[in-house]
Amino acid sequence: MGTGNAFLGRSILVVDDDPAIREFLAGALSERYKVASAASAEEAVELIGKSEFDLVITDLVLPGASGLTVLACAKSRDEFVEVLMISGNATVDSAAAAVNSGVGAYLIKPFALPELRNCVEKMMAMRAFHLKSLMLMKDSDLVDPAAKGHVDDLASLYHFTRKLMLTLEISEVMRITLEEANCKADAKFCTIEVCMPDYKEIYSMPQAGEIDKAAQSAVFAENWEDAFVGIDKERFQSGAVPHYAYKGRSGEFNAAVAYKCINFPLVVTGKTIGSLTVWIAANADIDERQRRYLHILTSFTSPVIEHVYLDLQVRFQAKTDNLTGIANHRYFYETLEREIARANRKKSSFALLLADIDDFKAINDTYGHQMGDAVIIDLAKRVSANIRTGDVVARYGGEEFGVILPESDETGALAMSKRICESLSKAPYAGAKHKIPYTASFGLAYYDGHNPVKKDELILSADQALYKSKVEGKNRVTVAERC
Ligand code: GH3
Ligand code: MG
Ligand code: MG
Repeated sequence: MGTGNAFLGRSILVVDDDPAIREFLAGALSERYKVASAASAEEAVELIGKSEFDLVITDLVLPGASGLTVLACAKSRDEFVEVLMISGNATVDSAAAAVNSGVGAYLIKPFALPELRNCVEKMMAMRAFHLKSLMLMKDSDLVDPAAKGHVDDLASLYHFTRKLMLTLEISEVMRITLEEANCKADAKFCTIEVCMPDYKEIYSMPQAGEIDKAAQSAVFAENWEDAFVGIDKERFQSGAVPHYAYKGRSGEFNAAVAYKCINFPLVVTGKTIGSLTVWIAANADIDERQRRYLHILTSFTSPVIEHVYLDLQVRFQAKTDNLTGIANHRYFYETLEREIARANRKKSSFALLLADIDDFKAINDTYGHQMGDAVIIDLAKRVSANIRTGDVVARYGGEEFGVILPESDETGALAMSKRICESLSKAPYAGAKHKIPYTASFGLAYYDGHNPVKKDELILSADQALYKSKVEGKNRVTVAERC
C-alpha cells in the first residue's frame, strides 16, 4: 500500500484510447502531478501491476476490455486507490454499476478543465485522508485496541457515507444500507421498512446467498410470495444477492419465529419515516458497538431515503391528475411524443382514443358539480379497467380523456374502444345517493410509423372523429379517416 510512496497524492494513471484525450489530460494535470498514460485496459493493467498510483482516470468505453476492468484491477491491488471514470454518455445503469464497483467520481464528456482539476484535487485529498488513517490504524504504539475499533468504525462509516452520496436511485440506497447492516450486525437478513404517506414498502436482503424465502414468509404474517414485487430483479440476478421489495401493505411481523429482530427507527427531524430491522438467530445478539454503529448508520441513511421518496412523490404528482389519480394533461402529451418517436423509429403503429362525456353539462346541472366529479372518476375507473398494461389513460380536459394504446392493431383498438363505450351505456354510475346513467363519445385515430405526422395533426384527426360521433348521435366510436 502506498504509505511509503514518495509521490503520495501525486501519481496519476490516465487510460483512454483517444490520444487527444490522453494528451489533454496529461497536459492539464502534469504541472501538479506525475502522470502516466495507457491506451487500453490491457496496457493499464500492466502498468498498475508495475507501479503504484494514487488516482486512475479511465474512460468507461475502451476497445476490448472496458474501464470497469481497469477499475477492478486497480482496486484489487490497492483498495484505497481513487478511480475517476470518464464517460461519453453515462446512463444511470452504467454510472450505478461504476459506483458499485468503487468508482469515486465520474465525469461526463465534454467536461471543462476547472471541473476536472477540482475533481482530481478532491480525490487526491481523499486518498491522502485514507492513507493517513491507515497509517494511524497500523501503528499499534499510537492506538490502543479500543481506539483502533473506533477508528475502524469511523473508517467504515466514512466509506458508507461516500457510497451513499454517490448513489443515484432508491434501490441503490437500500442495497448499500442493507449490505452494510448485514455485515456489521452479522445478520441472517435485514429489512428496511419505509412508511411515508404515499409509500409503504419493505426492502429485504440476506447477508449471504439466496434469500431464505421460507424463513421470511414465516417472519412476515402475510403471503410473502404474493406480497413481494421483485424490483430491479434483472440487475440483481447477475449478482449474488437477490433484491425484493414489498409494496402496498404495512407488513405485520410475526415475532414467533426462530429469529430475533432488532429495530432501528429511521428518523428525520423528529418524524419516523420507517425502520431498519436486523434479523439475527434467536440465540445470537449484537453488542453495544454494533448497536451504536447501526444507529449512526440509520441517521446517515434516513434523510437520503426521505429525500428520494419526496422526489418520487413530486415526480409522481407532476404526472397525475388530482381528481382521478390517472395521468394528467402534461403526461398525456409527453407520452404521445414518446410514442410518436418510437413508432417513427421502429416503423410501428399505435392508436389514440379520445373520449368526451355526453351531455355532461346536464349531469352537473341536474345532480350538482360534486356528482359530476364522481362521474368523471367513474369513467376514469372504467376506462382503466378495460385497457392493457402499457396503455396510458389520461384526463386531458374537464370531462375529456385520452388513451394511448402502444403497439396495438386497428381491430384490437377498435374492439377495446367499443367495449369501453358499451360498458358505460350498459350500467349507470351507481353512487350512494343517485344512479346516474351516462354515455360518452369516442374518436379513434391510428398512428403509422411509415407515414409520420405531427402530434397536433394526430390529435386533430382523433378529435374530428370524436366530433363526428357527437354529431351522429353520441354514445359511439368513430374511426378517423386518416391523419
Ligand atoms: P357534449 O355531449 O356535446 O359533450 O355536451 P357537454 O354538456 O358534455 O359539453 P361541454 O363540453 O360543453 O360541457 C362540459 C362541461 O363540463 C362544462 C364544464 O362546466 C364541466 N366541467 C369541466 N370540468 C369539470 C370538472 O372537473 N368537474 C365537473 N363537475 N364539471 C366539469
Ligand atoms: Mg367537453
Ligand atoms: Mg361533453
